[in-house]
Amino acid sequence: MGLISKARVKSPWIVHYCCGSCNGCDIEILACLTPYYDVERFGILNIGNPKHADLLVVTGPANRRSSRVLKNLYEQMPDPKLVMAVGACTATGGVFHNCYNILGGIDQVIPVDVYVPGCAARPEAVIDGVVLALDKLSKIK
Ligand code: SF4
Repeated sequence: MGLISKARVKSPWIVHYCCGSCNGCDIEILACLTPYYDVERFGILNIGNPKHADLLVVTGPANRRSSRVLKNLYEQMPDPKLVMAVGACTATGGVFHNCYNILGGIDQVIPVDVYVPGCAARPEAVIDGVVLALDKLSKIK
């Protein structure tokens, strides 16, 4: 593993996008940043700019309105990049499945590397998902 890849795995920068969720999963993701879970102590930073991000964390289903933004965010991220889908909505559409504006899971729009189950996904599951994503990142040459 090269120096840059090592740095990425040691301190992954994450960009979080709510694709149209009920905000339940977003609150659980934010809980990971609070002193109780404090993922920043592991070097995991939540940033606002996709151009600096290694991992795109998405909540909510793909829908007609936000899928263009989702694709745009993904395309702005530098390679190698990973996508983590948090919650049942991002995997299948979840409770919004079959609504008139829902396309389904976010894998209808962008490739997904890690799925985190739950409705809402628990913070422990979100952290497990990040660890799995870092493992995948460390194997990218
Ligand atoms: S998976 Fe459940 S909690 Fe998460 S955004 Fe969808 S409906 Fe809300």
